[in-house]
Amino acid sequence: MRYVTFSFKDDRTPRLGVIDGNEIVDLQSLSAPTGSGPLPGSMIELIRMGPKHWARVDEILRTELPRHEGARHGFDEIRWHPPLLRPAKNIFCLGLNYASHAIESATARGRDPKIPQAPVFFTKAPTAINGPFDDIPVDRTATQQVDWEVELGVIIGVGGKNIARSQALSHVFGYTVVNDVTARDLQARHLQWFKGKSLDGFAPMGPCVVTADEFGSPQGKRVTLRVNGTVKQDASTKDMIFPVDVILETLSHGLTLEPGDIIASGTPEGVGMGRTPPEFLNDGDVVEAEVEGIGTLRNRIRG
Ligand code: MG
Repeated sequence: MRYVTFSFKDDRTPRLGVIDGNEIVDLQSLSAPTGSGPLPGSMIELIRMGPKHWARVDEILRTELPRHEGARHGFDEIRWHPPLLRPAKNIFCLGLNYASHAIESATARGRDPKIPQAPVFFTKAPTAINGPFDDIPVDRTATQQVDWEVELGVIIGVGGKNIARSQALSHVFGYTVVNDVTARDLQARHLQWFKGKSLDGFAPMGPCVVTADEFGSPQGKRVTLRVNGTVKQDASTKDMIFPVDVILETLSHGLTLEPGDIIASGTPEGVGMGRTPPEFLNDGDVVEAEVEGIGTLRNRIRG
């Protein structure tokens, strides 16, 4: 299934929807069969219900959608929200998880390239989360060097601690697209990456969550990013140094992961900082971040 969080243009209340063809159906407009239990009202409610209920909701949707005679909404008729509006904690992020990007990052900073021997973790503040088609607000008194990073986002469905690699992917609810927008000047000035990664609106996410069963293996998906239509990043998730199952095993070692946690799995080469000369986003630029099988984020820089 492909789930979205959306609202109507005249009613901003976020709703849980499912994509059916080129339309969106509001789950609350579907009638669950008598005795089957209610349908969830939000993405986080669905995730927290757990795998048994995901299968139940999946079954209901497969039965009900083809005969649903109620409202369907065109993609341009609705307002798209980030799939998870306000996670309970920061977004977990991987740094330098593609060798080509680790090399370009070190070179741009005048350092010897080093390939990480263990996953490099940092986080982004939840207030950075932004919609899939909303503007990215840039406070030019805070940063002059706004950069892009397309990433595969992983959404935890089943919490756990000390998760074994062999079991790791069964803990995933689904996958989404994240643009890990970064203020490079702040990243360099403050040494620790948190501040430069966490400005308001610097984590566009969506447009949907593709459930793990439908998405299949998280490795081997094409990730691309365009600025004003020009391709800047184009790579495959098979080139991650630490694939998603290893990320989950390592991150959960002694650290509890919870339903609804979001993990941005790192970006490949082609960021602005690594280009010659370096390129950064200007006001009015349009950034498109795409992951094969999920969709495309499209955000305009607004200074
Ligand atoms: Mg990143």
